[in-house]
Amino acid sequence: MNMKNRLILKPGREKSLLRHNLWVFSGAVEQPPEAANGETVQMFSHDGRFLAQAAWSRHSQICARVWSFRPDEAVDAAFFRAKIRAASTLRRAAGFDGISTTGYRLIAAEGDGLSGVVADLYGDFCAVQFLSSGAEYMRDNLIAALQAELPQLRGIYERSDMAVRAKEGLAERAGLLAGEMPPALVEFKENGLRFVADLKNGHKTGFYFDQRENRRLAGSFARGKRVLNLFSYTGGFGVSAAAGGAAAVENVDSSASALALAERNMALNGVDRGKFTNTEANVFELLRQYERENRTFDLIVLDPPKLVDAKSHLIKGCRAYKELALRAFKLLENNGILFTFSCSGLVDASLFAKLTFDAAQDAGCEGAIIRRLAQDADHPVRLNHPETSYLKGLQVVKIS
Ligand code: SAH
Repeated sequence: MNMKNRLILKPGREKSLLRHNLWVFSGAVEQPPEAANGETVQMFSHDGRFLAQAAWSRHSQICARVWSFRPDEAVDAAFFRAKIRAASTLRRAAGFDGISTTGYRLIAAEGDGLSGVVADLYGDFCAVQFLSSGAEYMRDNLIAALQAELPQLRGIYERSDMAVRAKEGLAERAGLLAGEMPPALVEFKENGLRFVADLKNGHKTGFYFDQRENRRLAGSFARGKRVLNLFSYTGGFGVSAAAGGAAAVENVDSSASALALAERNMALNGVDRGKFTNTEANVFELLRQYERENRTFDLIVLDPPKLVDAKSHLIKGCRAYKELALRAFKLLENNGILFTFSCSGLVDASLFAKLTFDAAQDAGCEGAIIRRLAQDADHPVRLNHPETSYLKGLQVVKIS
């Protein structure tokens, strides 16, 4: 065995790996390997027991990301093909039939045992992200594996233009990887509704698939309601609400290009132009304005971007989550419904419920949580890697 590629942990620090967690933090390392950034290394406990094969990350706090817990498994294109097959099987088991929903996440990084690798299907196209040093190191193997396992695709496009790459010492990159260049807008279906996404310039790879089931649920409560869809992006919740028979929908986002696509998505589903408005605004300011104007709504969706991306931002981010819910409660009719979300992994479900409770109290109302919500099934939560659970939401009924 190559001694240079050995990573040895400090005494007692192997426990999380024995439970098959996929991450090792730099503080746990006694002896780092002499490996290139992203290279596969062998990890051992202090007393010499083999633990896992992992990708070495020289620059990140998460300094090793496990590929395999077996010493004899080659991490190569065949390895990645098997992982992609397992991910496809899991999607089928979770009910993705490729008929009513043709846009979904096929590979959800740690959720599919492939740290740093994301692949989203949009009909005949796939958008991928390589976000860790290990994924970048393996990119040729990964691309070969994706092509071999997904021969039906017309094209694979890379969207590794994410700021997280900097933590791994990687530059951002984007571009065509295989097949045809996707068109400016790629159409796909979600629960029978039609959407387009901009794979080249949209957020993430173009769409927030993790909210699919919550969009469906919100739509099922929308009949006859006046709906305020805050942080609408390309109108996902708004389209679902309109299709569910909402009396009126207002999409609000700070991005004009996102709202232009919301317009397209509403039209694609035959929503009457008189039934919705798109408002380009800062949600925090607009909520204050609507409060002054005594506006009210029957159903409000609050789906802000990640407001806590580091422990040092926890207090500030929590204040913002609370403020949003507080102001939303003020605009809600009695017995109105709030769907409120946080995609910050560092804000756990009980903290989020507490913030929502504080918001109701400060708004001078009460509320009842009638459902606890999470990311949809194409973002699986691995029992051995609980950090894969990040999206949490509450469906709350306002009680005066
Ligand atoms: N609900 C959406 C996803 C929301 S993503 C869906 O179902 O697809 C978060 C959105 O918030 C992004 O579109 C971003 O442009 C927008 N945003 C971020 N900060 C904002 C702010 N202060 N005011 C309004 N929109 C904001």
